[in-house]
Amino acid sequence: MSLSNIRIVLIQTSHPGNIGSTARAMKTMGLSDLCLVNPKMFPDPQATTMSSNANDILDNAKVVDSLQQAVADCHVVIGTSARHLRTLSWDTFDPRHCGEFIGKQVADNKKVALIFGRERTGLTNEELSFCHHLVHIPTNADYSSLNIASAVQILSYECRMGSVDIQQSSHPLDEEVISTKELEGFYQHLEKVLIEVEFLDPENPRYLMPRLRRMYGRIAVTRSELSLLRGMLSAFQGRKFTRREK
Ligand code: SAH
Repeated sequence: MSLSNIRIVLIQTSHPGNIGSTARAMKTMGLSDLCLVNPKMFPDPQATTMSSNANDILDNAKVVDSLQQAVADCHVVIGTSARHLRTLSWDTFDPRHCGEFIGKQVADNKKVALIFGRERTGLTNEELSFCHHLVHIPTNADYSSLNIASAVQILSYECRMGSVDIQQSSHPLDEEVISTKELEGFYQHLEKVLIEVEFLDPENPRYLMPRLRRMYGRIAVTRSELSLLRGMLSAFQGRKFTRREK
């Protein structure tokens, strides 16, 4: 079922009870893929207690030590934020549109990761810059921060609603969208070329790479588009090299 293509990623969760409640929230909505990045305490009896009967989700949860590992095989990475945001103006979804968007992605057989931050401090700016989109659950402006498992519950519900709608009416792309890992190789190549042509100053990079990441993340690059982009970068490098040789 397409909901199995949705991964819930929790970053450095402090309270094991929240991991258990998250498993329960996921299972009620038919989600099963849980990944924990450096949890403070896991496995833990409190997690098991709070999961109620969703211990299969805890038993199958993957524990990794970086966000990059957690999403390496995913095509779309969506960060969650308790606030409406920071330095860059992100493409921010509300939960309803996020669920519809995710529904389309999973119906096209793409893997989607939803990233949840630390209880006290949320996601770091670096983690946010790794995300292609953001979702914010509209809340009371004076008291905007939900408990993490409550946020998982709301977004899992919207994913369920979004995917049920979409299943009959989807027109999958006939081309495969590349994974985050492949896109990382492209970003490294792009950054190298931009430095070589002196468009990017490594001493003062400003927000160039995060902006470019955001843009490419948003457009869901396909395999043939990636070869085109890599080919163009190699051609730029080749031309520079030839000029120097002369
Ligand atoms: N003070 C932190 C709050 C973190 S709440 C901050 O301002 O970022 C812990 C996590 O719960 C968040 O990282 C996010 O994953 C989720 N969360 C809480 N409230 C949310 C909301 N209104 N919308 C989306 N996610 C929310």
